[in-house]
Amino acid sequence: MKVAIIGAGMGGLSAAIALRQIGIETAVYERVTENKPVGAAISVWSNGVKCLNYLGLREETEQLGGLVETMSYVDGHTGATMCRFSMQPLIDEVGQRPYPIARAELQLMLMQAYGMDDIRFGMTMVEVGDSPDAATATFADGTTIHADAIIGADGAGSITREYVLGTPVTRRYAGYVNYNGLVATDEAIGPATEWTTYVGDGKRVSVMPVSDGRFYFFFDVVEEQGLPYRRGSAREVLRGHFADWAPGVQTLIDALDPQATNRVEILDLDPFDTWVKGRVAVLGDAAHNTTPDIGQGGCSAMEDAIALQWAFKDHPDDVHAALIAYQEARTERAGELVLRARKRCDVTHAKDPELTAQWYEELRNEDGTNILRGIAGNILGGPLTPATN
Ligand SMILES: Cc1cc2nc3c(=O)[nH]c(=O)nc-3n(C[C@H](O)[C@H](O)[C@H](O)COP(=O)(O)OP(=O)(O)OC[C@H]3O[C@@H](n4cnc5c(N)ncnc54)[C@H](O)[C@@H]3O)c2cc1C
Repeated sequence: MKVAIIGAGMGGLSAAIALRQIGIETAVYERVTENKPVGAAISVWSNGVKCLNYLGLREETEQLGGLVETMSYVDGHTGATMCRFSMQPLIDEVGQRPYPIARAELQLMLMQAYGMDDIRFGMTMVEVGDSPDAATATFADGTTIHADAIIGADGAGSITREYVLGTPVTRRYAGYVNYNGLVATDEAIGPATEWTTYVGDGKRVSVMPVSDGRFYFFFDVVEEQGLPYRRGSAREVLRGHFADWAPGVQTLIDALDPQATNRVEILDLDPFDTWVKGRVAVLGDAAHNTTPDIGQGGCSAMEDAIALQWAFKDHPDDVHAALIAYQEARTERAGELVLRARKRCDVTHAKDPELTAQWYEELRNEDGTNILRGIAGNILGGPLTPATN
């Protein structure tokens, strides 16, 4: 059995490691020539951490992960704490601590675990197809490869998805822009072991710890799609959006490196249930592109990888049966996370200002129970976090 994986993001690499764990020959093809991930960091929730543990990366993950002991919401204007509570009840319920991790470091960990030399960099797939006997991918340099199956982990703009669905799809602008980066932790912004979120006016400013005394930060701003943006101008743009916000937010804006601050327009895709065509399947963002509002896109990609391994374990000699089993195991769960994130996105970003005002009021009366219940609801339901946990 030989499986070719297109894309060395967190989905493709997790899948490659997972398949190799059960003795399947794998090959990974990646269009970029070096490890340069977009985005500063990512919160790997407990379901994602369990996937990394399963892939044999428990210690490495613990080393890279930030320690989040508490969570708080802060009134963006006044700086008053709306609620603050321990993460421990969540950790106890789901059986694993979550870890925010710098993206480049997570990516490097996965690449090293799979084997840097085993990744074919600089290979842009331009065409994918299959026949009764083999799946085939063609690359921009003219190379064509054949495998028993091809897994398209080629991200949100996947061309594998286009092949599987038989038609291109248009992603939906979720209505906001996310500015993100890394800064040194600073108590003036938030406690070093807390995930602190300032909210107000449908905007959000958040910091959470990653390793080595750094905060991953992000600002969410409701903006039109396609506005011009000059890299390096983050500080002045954010000062404009958050002029009258609390001192902690001003400290963060002063501390960030404008050149290293990313600006990402947030899009997602309606869930769809066809992930497989013959010997070709999609995985990760190619299969379920979500807004980051519940921090589950990457975790879900890693869950796909585990489910794919289990499907091949159950059907070692039958590619078609394995891929269909994988699809059946994943579409409902992944689609549900996309829709949950969309719902959260709309409340956070004041799609209906009354609902958002009501949420702010709830935050003032929150002891953590409802928020942690919601987070546990996202975490539970994956292959390693059964809902009956
Ligand atoms: C602002 C933001 C914050 C986020 N925060 C979180 C979070 O906190 N927690 C979380 O779990 N998720 C988060 N996500 C989502 C997460 O980043 C994605 O779900 C995850 O990166 C998907 O991994 P992937 O491997 O499927 O795709 P990608 O990471 O996009 O990797 C796809 C790879 O395929 C390669 N590729 C593409 N086309 C081709 C081709 N034709 N040929 C060869 N190679 C190709 C690309 O170069 C890339 O390396 C966030 C997303 C955003 C935008």
